[in-house]
Amino acid sequence: MQAMIAGNWKMNLTPDEAEAYVRRFAPRVAKASAEVVLFPAFPSLDRVGRALADTAISLGAQDLCSEPRGAFTGAVSAEMLVACGCRYVLVGHSERRHVFGESDELVRRKLEAAGRAGLSPVLCIGETLEQRRRGETVAVLNAQLQAALAGLDLATLRRVVIAYEPVWAIGTGETATQEQAQEAAAAVRETTRRAHGDGIASALRILYGGSVKPENAGVLLAQPDLHGALVGGASLDPEGFAAIVLAGAA
Ligand code: PEP
Repeated sequence: MQAMIAGNWKMNLTPDEAEAYVRRFAPRVAKASAEVVLFPAFPSLDRVGRALADTAISLGAQDLCSEPRGAFTGAVSAEMLVACGCRYVLVGHSERRHVFGESDELVRRKLEAAGRAGLSPVLCIGETLEQRRRGETVAVLNAQLQAALAGLDLATLRRVVIAYEPVWAIGTGETATQEQAQEAAAAVRETTRRAHGDGIASALRILYGGSVKPENAGVLLAQPDLHGALVGGASLDPEGFAAIVLAGAA
């Protein structure tokens, strides 16, 4: 399975800055064997999409609205993302769940909206530090996974990518050990196997996210159930992120 290395810029980089980033970053990863995806903020999607036109790098959005159109001030639909050139969209990122209060039910409806538009959703799941300390990690992941994927049509299910992102490792500088990341990814695959069968589970791409850096990318991605990384803070530096892509692809 081809590795995917994705950069979530969060609420950073103006359209000018984002375009300048792509000019520095794209040549550095041109020969990487991994699929590279950039997730800029909404106002930069169109500019970044145009800058990526002659590259193999894919474009994704950080969020979407669960509704197709209408009176939802401030929201952005799946169709609008497709029109900007997006192929991927993050759904249920821990900052959406914990800062903006998104529920499992809303996450599920966003997955459906992404699927209807032909987008490939990157579903983010992960436990808090308290949940890990209480030994609830696998139960939490299973609950999030089952709630999100329940009733999803087969075409969307086939396109879903899972990002295992322990909440305690996001933006903290603390990274899961390779054993913790592998154990969580194996549990995700097993739960998917039980719910959706062997075909979907074996083809499921599972990423790790949480303070990935050039120094730890290689060992994390060498785990048998992991096929990539979702990188936040460290993706803001084009040279550093290129180093992660090259380490991960190797
Ligand atoms: C993220 O935002 O998905 C993330 C993993 O952030 P960071 O790499 O900064 O921990």
